[in-house]
Amino acid sequence: MRIAIYYYKNKNEEISKMIEQEAIKRGFLLDDHYPDVVFSVGGDGTFLRAVHRYMDILDEVHFIGINNGTLGFFYDYTKEDIPMLMDMLKNNNFKVKTHRLLKADVKYQSEEETIYAVNEIRIENPFHTLIADVSIDNQLLETFRGNGLMVCSPLGSSGYNKSLGGALLDQDLDVMELKEIAAIQNNIYRALGSPFVFSSDKDISFSGTFNGAVVGYDHLSLDKHDVLLKVDIYCSDKTVKIIHGEDHSYINKVRKSFVL
Ligand code: NAP
Ligand code: MN
Repeated sequence: MRIAIYYYKNKNEEISKMIEQEAIKRGFLLDDHYPDVVFSVGGDGTFLRAVHRYMDILDEVHFIGINNGTLGFFYDYTKEDIPMLMDMLKNNNFKVKTHRLLKADVKYQSEEETIYAVNEIRIENPFHTLIADVSIDNQLLETFRGNGLMVCSPLGSSGYNKSLGGALLDQDLDVMELKEIAAIQNNIYRALGSPFVFSSDKDISFSGTFNGAVVGYDHLSLDKHDVLLKVDIYCSDKTVKIIHGEDHSYINKVRKSFVL
C-alpha cells in the first residue's frame, strides 16, 4: 500500500512524522504521486486542498483525516488513532464513504473550463450587482440580482452555505443546494429568497454578462481576463472516498461544531 501525507509545512510536522514512522513500520511505501491512501493532517481547508491535489486520480485514492485539535467536518481521527488506523489499513478492514463532487462547465467568450468542487461552486460580484438568469434544466427559475449565487454539496452544506443561511444536508442525500447571496428584494425586484435543494440529475445554470464577477470553488477561484457568460453546475460522477471511523456520526459532528 502506498501512503501520502498532506499537511501545511511548518504545521503538524510532528503528526506527519508519526504517520511516516508507523507506515514504514508496517512495510507501506511513501508515495506522494500515486498514493492509495492520503492522510490529510490539519483542518477542513487542508482537506479541501488535499482532494484538489489528487483530483486527477481521485478514483484510486482514499482519504483519512487526522485532526490537529480544532474541529473538522472532514475529520474522524486524531493523532492517537494513527497506529490503529495503520493496522486497519494493513488488515484491509475499514469503512469507506463515497461523496460526489460538484462539477461546473464555465463558459467564457473565447474558452471553456471545467472545474470540480468538494464544498461549493459560486459566482460572486461584491462590488456591482450581479444579474443572472437562473435556470434549472433549461427552465427559467428567476432573474437574480444581488451579490452572487452558490451551489453546495451535502459535504459543503456546513461551510459557506451555512453562513449564508442555507440548510444543512444530511450526508447520505444525493442532492445539491442552491443558495442566493444577498439577493435584492424590493418593490421592483424579486428573488426566490430561500434555499432550493435539487436532485442530482439536475443542471443548474447561471447565465448573463457578468462584468467583474468571479467564479469561486472551494478555496480556489478562476482568474480569467475574459468575458464570463455561463456557468452550468451538476453533481459529478467523480467522487471523493473518505475512510471513516466505526462511530462516525454526522449528527454528532453538527452538534459538536454548532450546538455545544
Ligand atoms: P477558510 O477561510 O479557512 O474557511 C472558512 C471556514 O470554513 C474555516 O473555519 C474552515 O475550516 C471551514 N470549512 C471549510 N469547509 C467546511 C465544511 N465543509 N464544513 C464546515 N466548515 C468548513 O478557507 P479555506 O480553508 O480555504 O476553505 C474554503 C472553504 O471555506 C470554502 O469552500 C467555503 O465553504 C468556506 N468559506 C466560508 C465562508 C463563510 O462562512 N462566510 C467564506 C468563505 C469560504 P478550517 O478552519 O478547519 O479550515
Ligand atoms: Mn481554513
